[in-house]
Amino acid sequence: MLQDDNKDELDKDLIDLDLDGNLSSSKNSINKEKLSLKMKLKSLKEKYIIISPFNNYNDFYDFSNKTTFKLIWVYSPAKIRYENYIKKYNDKDYERFLDKDYNINKINNLRLLQENSFIQINNEGNLDEFYIKINKLYNYFCENVRPQWDDYFMSIAHIVSNRSNCIKQKVGAIIVKNNRILSTGYNGTPSKLTNCYEGECPRCNSDNINQGEDLDKCFCIHAEENALLEIGKSLSENATLYTTVYPCLLCSKLIIQCGINKVIYDRDYKTEHTDYILNKGKIIIEKWKKKTSL
Ligand SMILES: [Zn+2]
Ligand SMILES: [Zn+2]
Repeated sequence: MLQDDNKDELDKDLIDLDLDGNLSSSKNSINKEKLSLKMKLKSLKEKYIIISPFNNYNDFYDFSNKTTFKLIWVYSPAKIRYENYIKKYNDKDYERFLDKDYNINKINNLRLLQENSFIQINNEGNLDEFYIKINKLYNYFCENVRPQWDDYFMSIAHIVSNRSNCIKQKVGAIIVKNNRILSTGYNGTPSKLTNCYEGECPRCNSDNINQGEDLDKCFCIHAEENALLEIGKSLSENATLYTTVYPCLLCSKLIIQCGINKVIYDRDYKTEHTDYILNKGKIIIEKWKKKTSL
């Protein structure tokens, strides 16, 4: 989705390409970078890729479940939107600008569009800088038509976390070897007990306990524990564990003892001594890096 003024210029330039990929207009001044980008975009078009703007959530909705569809969110900071507003409407009234800006967002459900985007582009510079970002996007897109393995497994761990019954936080973990999933786990009370969110675990249901405190009094089994319990030490040896949250001290001990080689986690979670024992246990630990903006 290309949202603002630069979109019009980019579209105009794209239209300037004739069928052989030559520039049909007399824009001799156009630099090589732009030309090579245009050739790339043309080759994308030849591979049946259509670039089209969406201005509201409803238009996008029909495409949202298509496997090969990617929504790109292009945005500008408020300061630049205000400057564009002044130019467009010859009006310097900041309150009126804010009103209009807010209403456009609300009526068109733009927040939902943004939340559903594959990647975001901050369009805060001039047109040349925008072209450079589009160029990066092209390269990124070519590499990520299918998700990379880490992104694939982490997104599955996040889906697994949805089954959690813990009132404090939802966590998901999966154990992977040779790019095959061996087991999954989410956090919650043991199977014959009532769910944590129904009041079973006094620790999780207390308002006075901070993150990482009194874990030894918790009734909930952690996502990593459940995933490791499922397959035991013999199958976990040299596998990678993906977890949506950095492991706690207890899970770290189990991770080492089960022979897990590597842990990839998403959100940070601080508990005492965990870094130390994961280090001592020679666990390779990586924070998952999802590319979300250019
Ligand atoms: Zn709980
Ligand atoms: Zn844990």
